[in-house]
Amino acid sequence: MTKTPASTAALQLADKKHHAHPFTDPKALAENGSRIISRGKGVEIWDNDGNKYLDGMAGLWCVNIGYGRNEIAERVKSQIEELCYYNSFFMSATPTQIELAETISSLTPEGLNHIFFGTSGSDANDTASRLVRHYWDLKGKPTKKTIISLIHAYHGSTITGASLGGWPAMHKMGSTLQAGYTHIMPPYWFEFGRNQSKEDFGLKAAQALEDAILLAGADNIAAFIAEPVMGAGGVIPAPDTYWPMVQEICKKHDVLLIADEVITGFGRTGEWFGSFTYNIKPDILNMAKGLSSGYAPISATAVSDDMYAVLSAGGEISHGFTYSGHPVCCAAALENIRIMKDEKIVEYVRDVAGPHFQNKLQEFADHPLVGEARGVGLLGALELVRDPKQGEKFAPEKRVAIRCVEKGFENGIIMRAIREVLEFSPPLIITTQEIDLLFDRARYCIDEVAKEEG
Ligand code: PLP
Repeated sequence: MTKTPASTAALQLADKKHHAHPFTDPKALAENGSRIISRGKGVEIWDNDGNKYLDGMAGLWCVNIGYGRNEIAERVKSQIEELCYYNSFFMSATPTQIELAETISSLTPEGLNHIFFGTSGSDANDTASRLVRHYWDLKGKPTKKTIISLIHAYHGSTITGASLGGWPAMHKMGSTLQAGYTHIMPPYWFEFGRNQSKEDFGLKAAQALEDAILLAGADNIAAFIAEPVMGAGGVIPAPDTYWPMVQEICKKHDVLLIADEVITGFGRTGEWFGSFTYNIKPDILNMAKGLSSGYAPISATAVSDDMYAVLSAGGEISHGFTYSGHPVCCAAALENIRIMKDEKIVEYVRDVAGPHFQNKLQEFADHPLVGEARGVGLLGALELVRDPKQGEKFAPEKRVAIRCVEKGFENGIIMRAIREVLEFSPPLIITTQEIDLLFDRARYCIDEVAKEEG
């Protein structure tokens, strides 16, 4: 029996009454009603009234292989029929968990061969935070507890994720910021370093890490966590000088390096992991979103051989989730990775889509509202300013980036705004023609806002 589709008005009413949304102002929701998305195929999604949008954000940076892949539905169905669930606690495992752990180990940078599963980027960062502190306890250095991270970074919404992140509003809500977290200047040249060359600024931003370590004392610092390229915080590729110096500093002061690859993992930068793009050798690498292309909630924390040797000698690992290695989510991830390999999606991003996307993005560099166009692979951002020459910013209450996003929805494209930055992260299968369409429409939207601003 086919169900009659509910009307948008009826859905919005029920939504307002019963659905508490993440990162949403309930008052604005009550006034305007939610945007109800009902269907997706390839790079496109449709709302409940049949309006089509080119999704320039791949959902939330996650639907890397695009919407509506039937092969994943089939694989998930057969996994549910075979074994819908079993846990990985108390010495148990399922074949699907084992196959995925082995597959991930074959893709991660050398030496990251021990895979702990979760269901979200946030819980992966909780896992990493607990493991690094446990590691230092086992090494007889129990004071090494503080984790350093970057201002503007997003690492999730659990208490640990929000504490790691550098978003003041998240720290404030519920008095979330815990002791044992320190935030330092990110390698964000446009915001913090325009008075010097990118190379010099990269060194200065890396020096901020060493300064923070020295200030607290290396004996008190467990780890530094960062994304190879900051994603949600504004798509901020670091200057070339940054990562080599950061890694030297971590080694010098015995500070573990956690790469949060929740966005940059699985092809986004044109390699399987952003760590390859920037030659980063982390002790822990976290992944989520692109691991299953958002088809099922799954995350993984890849731990280095050296770290795992210490952890293994330390007795039971008192950590885990009912759904760690959920077989159905593992099946979705395995099929996603199979598709990515068979269709050479990472190579496509590296050789075709990524270069085309970056060229189109750079065409905005001399737009009268754009201070900087930046990105890597299929990640991009436009920094909107009132006067690019003087670097004069718009007042936040002007909401210029959000207004561009709203115009995007009116014109059939999806972008995202943070501060005065417009962000792009389309499905990795986007064609060059679709990239042209995305940026043609984005230009129209920015031009319209520029006209309104006079
Ligand atoms: N880490 C990074 C870099 C992210 O971008 C996100 C989410 O956007 C997270 C962690 C949190 O992931 P989740 O929303 O799955 O908890």
